[in-house]
Amino acid sequence: MKPVTRYGDGAGTVVTALGPIAVARRPCPACGAGNATVPPGRYSSLPWAIKQCPGCGFVYLDPAPRHEALNETLSWERSHAEERRRRAAARPIVSRISRLSHGRKKILPRNDIASMLARHAPPGNVIDIGCADGGRAMRLPEAYVPFGIEISAELAGAAETRFASRGGRCVHAPAEEALRDFPDGFFVGAMLRSYLEHEVHPAEVLHELGRTLARGGVMIVKVPNYASLNRRLTGRAWCGFRFPDHVNYFTPASLTAMAAKAGFTTEFGLLGALPTSDNMWATMRRR
Ligand SMILES: [Zn+2]
Repeated sequence: MKPVTRYGDGAGTVVTALGPIAVARRPCPACGAGNATVPPGRYSSLPWAIKQCPGCGFVYLDPAPRHEALNETLSWERSHAEERRRRAAARPIVSRISRLSHGRKKILPRNDIASMLARHAPPGNVIDIGCADGGRAMRLPEAYVPFGIEISAELAGAAETRFASRGGRCVHAPAEEALRDFPDGFFVGAMLRSYLEHEVHPAEVLHELGRTLARGGVMIVKVPNYASLNRRLTGRAWCGFRFPDHVNYFTPASLTAMAAKAGFTTEFGLLGALPTSDNMWATMRRR
């Protein structure tokens, strides 16, 4: 079933410390409900409103920046620094503890998404969505051909050079549009690391991945876990809140449900969705 949750018109501009940002209204990205009259929830940081869909419970940003704004005004580096300042001001102690625990997690092998994928997917073409400069996908073993999608022109250029040396390529476009260039069943694997929380059309992108992954193909997904204990304890200071570039707030249940509609089964394993972790790691397989 093809999803129907499109950006609404309701266009406008939000003025921020980073400059003016073009935004558009969004229906619920999970079920398509309009939710125009649903008021901003308690985690909102106005003018950025976080809503919970009354119908399906999905948590998301509405309105959200348009793709071109994500590319131009909201480069990851700039908004990351801006958000770190906002969080530090909100709850200094919590913010510092959160940074320390990030350092600890970097030593865990789980974070090497290329190795995780190689353990599950047969040799073939692999797509890294939000591939940045391509470094991550280049860590895939020789048996894989790296492909990527990246909305920053500069990073996409760097990735293209790297991937071409191994027979792959990088597409500089929004993910849904970029995936349409690839034939059915073209990939054996996909890596979505810290990507799906930024995507204004997550269901549509998953649908395209369902089409372009071969049967049995594997997708490794890392996203912040909105159901985490830390979100409940630290509230607005939770490190998963980043305005306005995190536009979807997944729980293990809502991620599993959205992937199922696109034809994927989801497993978190023993450690993939611990309530004590701010992030979750899912292994999804194309049915
Ligand atoms: Zn909904």
